[in-house]
Amino acid sequence: MQGLLLELLPILCSPLSYIFLCLGLLMGSFFNVCIYRIPRGIFWKEKRSVCPHCGVMIPFWHNVPLLSWIFLRGKAACCGGRISIQYPLVELATGLLFVLIYWKFPFVLRWDGQLAIDPRDFLRFAHALVFCSVLLICSVIDLEHQIIPDVLSLPMIALTPLVVWVHPDLDWKSALLGVVLGGGVFYAIAWIYYLVRREAGLGMGDVKLLAAIGGWLGYQAILTTVFWASILGSIVGISVILISKKMDMKTRLPFGPFLSFAAVCYHLFGHQLADVIITF
Ligand SMILES: [Zn+2]
Repeated sequence: MQGLLLELLPILCSPLSYIFLCLGLLMGSFFNVCIYRIPRGIFWKEKRSVCPHCGVMIPFWHNVPLLSWIFLRGKAACCGGRISIQYPLVELATGLLFVLIYWKFPFVLRWDGQLAIDPRDFLRFAHALVFCSVLLICSVIDLEHQIIPDVLSLPMIALTPLVVWVHPDLDWKSALLGVVLGGGVFYAIAWIYYLVRREAGLGMGDVKLLAAIGGWLGYQAILTTVFWASILGSIVGISVILISKKMDMKTRLPFGPFLSFAAVCYHLFGHQLADVIITF
């Protein structure tokens, strides 16, 4: 715990962390637009944000990430309609994610007067940023609509060769094996589940997402990701059943968020988590 605090201290003191936090909050605002529009198929339709309740255009000063929601107390300024807490939460999560990724891959060597960056760490940073961002968007869409859009997962799989080409640590063998193993293992699980329960338990969306995770992180990530996602998913699923009592064992819980969370933790904290488990 103390070691963690000592590691966190430089993050809290660095002005760069706050720059990445603000950048993340702004991107989170854009991710909210993606989360709202992609599943509804209206991504390219309107240029400006409009109120989901009354359709009035939202002025930009009511669209400041996090702050607007707090100052307007979760109500639309135009008509008083409720604005979901999901919006500020996604913005905050993106902001914190950007800081964490920079903490993991601190590519800026110096920036007083002249800027010096580590190109390899910059590539790792950019890779993690895109990877975690797409997974965050997929997770929230999956929570809300129980789908993981193909327009997000398939391009990720298709971009695997490019990722291998630019990423300093990923080799094409582990990436290729990752796509095959990620897609294959889950396809097998979905198939066995279908044979046993005679109903579709896992969506093909999860299969494509895991194939994308395998491609972007390498096959080494697959087993750990599935393992922790299943444990987390079971704990949360059982808790939800116990608390709400409305759901039963047949209620479907989206698996995408757990897969995404486990994959991001594996990528950002893999070594630290391994250390913790070994010390226990
Ligand atoms: Zn309104």
